[in-house]
Amino acid sequence: MRWTEFMRRRRSRSAGVPPAVWSMFRAPAAPRRGPILICICGAICIFAMLLSGAAPERHLSVYSVAANYSLPIVQHEGRNYICLLEVLEPLGKVSAKLEGPRWRLRYNNVEGDFQVGKTHARVQGRDADLTGKFYVENNRGLVPLTALASLLPRFLGGPVTVHDESGRLFIGSVATHFTAGLSFSAENAPRLIFHFTAPVNPTVATEPGALRMTFTREPVVAPASPTLTFGNKIIPSAIYSESNGTAVVTVNSSVPVIASFSNDRRTVMVSPVATQNATPPAPGTPEATAQPTPAPAAPAPVARRYFAVVDASHGGDDYGETLSSTLLEKDVTVALARSLRQELEARGIPTLVLRDSDANVPLDQRAAISNAYRAAIYIAVHAASSGHGVRVYTALLPFDGDDRGNFRAWNTAQHAALPLSQTTASAVAAELQRRQIPVRALTAPLRPLNNLVGPAIAVEVAPQGSDSSQLTAPDYQQLVTSAVATAIAATRDQLGAAQ
Ligand SMILES: [Zn+2]
Repeated sequence: MRWTEFMRRRRSRSAGVPPAVWSMFRAPAAPRRGPILICICGAICIFAMLLSGAAPERHLSVYSVAANYSLPIVQHEGRNYICLLEVLEPLGKVSAKLEGPRWRLRYNNVEGDFQVGKTHARVQGRDADLTGKFYVENNRGLVPLTALASLLPRFLGGPVTVHDESGRLFIGSVATHFTAGLSFSAENAPRLIFHFTAPVNPTVATEPGALRMTFTREPVVAPASPTLTFGNKIIPSAIYSESNGTAVVTVNSSVPVIASFSNDRRTVMVSPVATQNATPPAPGTPEATAQPTPAPAAPAPVARRYFAVVDASHGGDDYGETLSSTLLEKDVTVALARSLRQELEARGIPTLVLRDSDANVPLDQRAAISNAYRAAIYIAVHAASSGHGVRVYTALLPFDGDDRGNFRAWNTAQHAALPLSQTTASAVAAELQRRQIPVRALTAPLRPLNNLVGPAIAVEVAPQGSDSSQLTAPDYQQLVTSAVATAIAATRDQLGAAQ
């Protein structure tokens, strides 16, 4: 589990920048400018955004080699306007001066001359059509969004691409392209494989019939055709769309699907939850063998209600703890999860192992899938080299939960189920103790426990002594998992009643 690592990640997340002002990185050598006016202008732009309370209605995402950032779009006479200085500010040395109705902007060595109410400006002494009137608001020079396509190349000296409708601006050749193709597992289960030209980190959301990947910070652009069809009943199509500064890829599916990341987050595999479970892709095999002709129809996945979801924590490029020079936590958790499934199913408890391959599955998605299955119990499995025996965790909920009416806040989704989670954790701890395995029951702000709407616990297994190789011994694994399964079976009626 690596507790310090977890706390550090948590802290760095909470210390984030305001959501609308993100930046992948800034060019370290970008010369900082003198006039205080710019700072004020920038601050006003940002403050106006923050003071408006909610996220701005519309924004422009800007992608460039130097930085990726998001700017508010303001409305004037029914048209979209943008603060020109803010667009240029992260890219180079910029200054501006307001003299009566004249607003003069200097970017590196390029001068622009704008006049309030005029539809034309001058850049380096040459006429520039603004496609609408120029405005000044709080010392900010505002130009129509549609003027950027012709105006920016004059300042920047290079090509830009503007998607006016969806609020996305690409400076230079920065776009991330992707391809998508269907491949099939040995059992003919479909897997939709996306290959991106750069690492991606989309927000993944699942709902009945669809999985949606939302790209806010990445300059992902449309494939040749925005609608991709695959001639498959389980995963028939994927659709690309963009709006309000984001790109969205929606995968349509007839069964619940899961997205997993590999290849330094350049490859995304979308596959049915149950079949991924049954047929883990062999590590190291290329997945991109899209078949040109539709393969024989995949067997319809068995509609099955899972009582327990066992989550093998970590996976993919998240190794978890390095338990020894040859042992990674992510591998031990899969072995423990499989052992626990076997023990639970031997007691008549239908069990889904959430990660049965070396895939990188985001925490939010692990919780979302378990929630979608309405599992009676969620059990995350961890392994550790320090301490002795087993630690059983329940969620320590944050104070900042924001429940509104019927909508459960994601960070405190566990709230109502917590008493039953604690009952289950106590039963598991008691059974381990009965079998002479050292055990402690703890609460911790351990994700994704707080995002589960049903009873949820985490079980962290350490060796009984100091030899971490015991973690891979099947008899030790079974000693622990059979105790956990016995306790779950004993609380089955309580858990089932709440399901
Ligand atoms: Zn762990």
